[in-house]
Amino acid sequence: MMNIEQLGWNSYFADQFRPYKEQGLSVGRVLREVRQQYTLYSEQGLISGDVSGHFHYTAMDRSDYPTVGDWVVFRQCADYAQIEHVLDRTSGFSRNNAGSGDREQVIVANIDYLCIVCGLDGGRNFNLRSIERYITMAVEGGAQPVIVLNKADICTDREIALLQAQSVAGDIPVHMVSAITKEGVDDFSMSFEKGSTVAFSGQSGVGKSSLINCLLGMETLKTASLRESDLRGRHTTTHKELFFLKSGAMVIDTPGMRELQLWGSRKSLDETYSEIHEAAKHCRFRDCTHQNEPGCAVRELLINGSLETERYENYSDMQTELAFIESKVDEKKRHARKAKDKQLSKLIRRTMKNKRK
Ligand code: GDP
Ligand code: ZN
Repeated sequence: MMNIEQLGWNSYFADQFRPYKEQGLSVGRVLREVRQQYTLYSEQGLISGDVSGHFHYTAMDRSDYPTVGDWVVFRQCADYAQIEHVLDRTSGFSRNNAGSGDREQVIVANIDYLCIVCGLDGGRNFNLRSIERYITMAVEGGAQPVIVLNKADICTDREIALLQAQSVAGDIPVHMVSAITKEGVDDFSMSFEKGSTVAFSGQSGVGKSSLINCLLGMETLKTASLRESDLRGRHTTTHKELFFLKSGAMVIDTPGMRELQLWGSRKSLDETYSEIHEAAKHCRFRDCTHQNEPGCAVRELLINGSLETERYENYSDMQTELAFIESKVDEKKRHARKAKDKQLSKLIRRTMKNKRK
């Protein structure tokens, strides 16, 4: 039997849980979600359930609902869990929900490390600009980025690849591995601390599935024991979506994580491109667009060669994309405010009417 510390339970969550515990409620981590049916791992083992009526009633937004990786407070009714509350997340990854415009849908929560997988097979699977985007996304989501250069076995010049990756990585660790020959995989797998949660991201074709299968192959024992002792033979797919590395770190691999889209903020963009952000403070004009204004410190970086044109262009693209997302979010907020105002004035009118009676 596992204890919940192994699943990443720590004082941040324990502090939030205390008042609920006093009310006799239980806590568990969401391992799986299929159409709002949740599988939780709790101190008592695996249990499934859904959110309570009260939860539905008070939830304001899609992002308030539990998602894979969340710690939830639940009431146990026989062998069913009625989820009452989601503990505050340390991190969360979202995508724009295609079906409903720009509403934020959290795909996975409480991830400590986001592994950005690239493929060293030449061409588009190893793209520094795309790594920068993923770094921004990881920072924005609240996870630490880790760069994984896969397909080392067919890389013609590893040293150059490593240098290139390090040029955008800064302090972020870079691992060179091969899912085929398994070289580097052990070191990579051991680099995460016990109780931490790891997720994988990256363009399709870089070898995420292969790498995850490779890791899974090395760790089958632990996965099997979680499955057999706790699921009592019921068939689920938790084995693929959640497993443990040798180091005791937990891997969460939900399908949605692989199709992550940019849902960032200016802050994380500025963090990723800190030198541009710094330089921009020294532009002569506060609203400098860095196109052709005199006294532009960003263009100065480009001219003296300390900023690559490609890096700058990527920054500009992301800024445009962000501005678009932000304008949509603002629009949504305006709509919500309007609707609330309307409701309020209705309520006031009704109250006045009643008073007059
Ligand atoms: P995903 O789309 O990111 O999940 O990528 P896949 O795991 O499906 O891998 C895409 C292709 O790359 C497949 O043909 C794999 O066999 C191949 N591949 C994955 N990892 C490696 C590796 O380390 N070395 C080599 N040579 N090929 C790999
Ligand atoms: Zn400027």
